[in-house]
Order: sequence, then C-alpha cells, then structure tokens
Amino acid sequence: MTVGPRKGALHPPASIAVVGGGQLGRMFIQAAQAMGFRAGALTLTPETPAAQVADWTVQGPSDDLATLRALAERAEAVTVEFENVSAAALRWLAKRRIVRPGWRTLWTCQNRLREKTFLARHDVPHAPWRPVRSADELAAAVRALGTPMVLKTSSSGYDGRGQVRVDAEADAADAWAILGRPPCVAEGWVEFVAEASVVVARGGDGRASAFPIALNHHERHILDSSTAPAAVGPIVAQEARETALGVAQALDAVGVLCVEFFITADGRLLVNEIAPRPHNSGHLTIEAGLSSQFDQQVRALCGLPLGSCDLVRPAAMVNLLGDVWAGGEPRWGRALEDPGVKLHLYGKHTPKPGRKMGHLTVLDETPDGALTRAREARRRLMEKN
Ligand code: ATP
Ligand code: MG
Repeated sequence: MTVGPRKGALHPPASIAVVGGGQLGRMFIQAAQAMGFRAGALTLTPETPAAQVADWTVQGPSDDLATLRALAERAEAVTVEFENVSAAALRWLAKRRIVRPGWRTLWTCQNRLREKTFLARHDVPHAPWRPVRSADELAAAVRALGTPMVLKTSSSGYDGRGQVRVDAEADAADAWAILGRPPCVAEGWVEFVAEASVVVARGGDGRASAFPIALNHHERHILDSSTAPAAVGPIVAQEARETALGVAQALDAVGVLCVEFFITADGRLLVNEIAPRPHNSGHLTIEAGLSSQFDQQVRALCGLPLGSCDLVRPAAMVNLLGDVWAGGEPRWGRALEDPGVKLHLYGKHTPKPGRKMGHLTVLDETPDGALTRAREARRRLMEKN
C-alpha cells in the first residue's frame, strides 16, 4: 500500500525537489530557499549547477526505481527543469508525492510529433509540418513543404541540436542521415520578422497569469537575448498572451510553461514550441518581475496563490555562452562597471562554445535601452584591455 500525495498547500520549511541538475533547477532551488523551503535536486552527478546550491541531492538517473524511491522519501513535491523525464517515472512518483507539471503535459511536449499534433488538434496557429519516419514520408514532406525546410528530431533536441536546415530537395536524404534517421518533424521555413515568447504560470485550481511578452533574438539557433515587454503593439501582445494561456489550459499544465512564437511580416503569430517549465527567455523576471518565473514555479508546485507577473521595469537579458571565455577568463569587473548590470553564473566548470554558462540582466526606462546596456556589458567582458 503506498501513501498518496498529501492534500492541500505546502508551506515552508517543507522539502521540495526538482528533477534535473542544470541552471533552471539551480534557479528554482534558489527561489524555493528564499521562501524558506528546503530544496533538493535529483541530479546525475554531484557537481551540477543545481546540486551546488541544493539543501540535499539524490544522485542517479531519473528513470531508476531506487533513485525515485529515494527522491520520494525526501521530497513532498517534485517538479522538473527539463521535459525529457520519463512519463513512467513521473506516474510512479505522482502516486506518492505531488508532481507538477503532470506526466501528460510533459508527454505532449517532450516529443515534437506529439507537440505538433496537439497544436493542430487545438487549432493553435503553427508552421506547416509533416511527420518523417521513413524515406517515403521524407520525400512527401519535401514535396509538401518545399525548401528551405528544417528537419528536427522528434525528441531530445535543444538549443538547435538535432536540427538540420534543408536548402534543396536533393539534400533532404543526407540531412536526415546526418541526424541518424530518427523520427523527425519536417517544418516549413518561416520567414519571421521576430521571435517572441510568453511565460505562463498556472495553479492547480486552473488560475493562470502570463508575464509580458518577450522579444527573443537567437544566434546559431541558440537564444542570445530577450527583452520585455516586447515592442510588438497591443494587439499582437494580447493575442500572444491569449494563445499562451490557452495552450497552458489545453495542456492542463500546472506550474510554469513557456510558449515560443514566430512573428511573421504580416503580423501573424505562429507557435514554434512549448517548454513545460521555466524558460531562458524568462530569466529577466528574476530582477524585473514582482515575482520571478521561478517564484511562480515554487508557488504553483506548493499549491500556494500565484504571485504577480507584472514587471517593475522594462528589462533585457543576454546569455553568456562558453564562447565568451574564448580569449581567457572574462573580465567580470568590466561588465559590472555599469552599476545596473546583474550577473548570474551557473557554476559550470568547463566553458564550451554554445554552452550556457550564465547571463546578464539590465533594467532600464525602455527595453531597447536595457538591451543596449546588457550587450555593452557583455562586450566589455571580452575586451583585451
Ligand atoms: P530551444 O529548446 O533551446 O528553444 P530547440 O533546439 O528546441 O531550441 P527550436 O526552438 O525549434 O529548437 O529552434 C531554435 C531556433 O531555430 C528558433 O528559435 C529559430 O530561430 C530557428 N528555427 C527553428 N525552426 C525554424 C523554422 N521552421 N523556420 C525558421 N527558423 C527556425
Ligand atoms: Mg526553441
């Protein structure tokens, strides 16, 4: 006989946990600790960004029963920092502890074929796509979508990994081979004018609120900067907000979720993807939000009332990738010469190109002003003298 998850809200100093050891787990733990919770991480190795700050850790793979049992012994409630946690593991945990978001939400978002099918079923506008699970389907996809198109592995892609752009029909077979011929979605190329995202917090009672829309700039398919509120006009902002809230409701997601959009030249919003967790484009809410996306994750997980998603000021965030270390140790003091710059480092020991090591946030009178200062600060990090 297993004891089911406890009913009602959790209050500090209850013990809560995140599955995953990355920076999103780290910032969840820091928010939980600030509220007086004891916060742990299920982490593969002891030196991860989340493990470094956690009150306790359980080490092991998240689909291992002994590991899950150890986690259930230590945490009253469990959330995740990435979507690729096995549904079976989450179902096992959910019989014993509060688990948010639920396995169905993750199940939909952890696989691009299921995610696109979900968007289509709920009439959420998105880019044209086709499933690719065989050479025949690949040929049919190229015929239907034309080129350029993008092949994306249906599972475990992030930061542009698991994606190949196909520029000519003749290249499609090679592109699929590069990916190892796994199940994929083929997506029509979107000539967007901008990318944006909305982070939503949703409680177990179905109440939800959305942070102001952020404008996102990617370099090499990796997020480079986010600014909020996005200068998109009130109708687009409202439409993005309603779409994101609608997606959260249709998924019955409890916790924090991010909907990423392409904005086309004619002002249409197409959903690119859904992250059922806090998102890199929401990091600026740590300083700019009355509540941060991580505060909201803690509150939703614990069944507490959600905080305000209002921003106290416009803000910008720039990522610090491993590339910033190319010329040696970054010049932290130079970046901090602007007294409004906030530095976040995730405690990763090995800077690699494209690896997210930290970020900078700046608040200003205008989103553009904030972005200019954040970029300037990042540039100074790499100055020779
Ligand atoms: P992450 O999870 O880190 O957001 P990801 O690897 O899951 O990224 P996507 O969000 O699908 O990948 O794509 C990353 C970026 O690549 C997009 O933000 C966009 O800049 C570009 N991109 C992806 N798909 C398309 C498309 N169909 N048309 C044009 N650009 C695209
Ligand atoms: Mg993305």
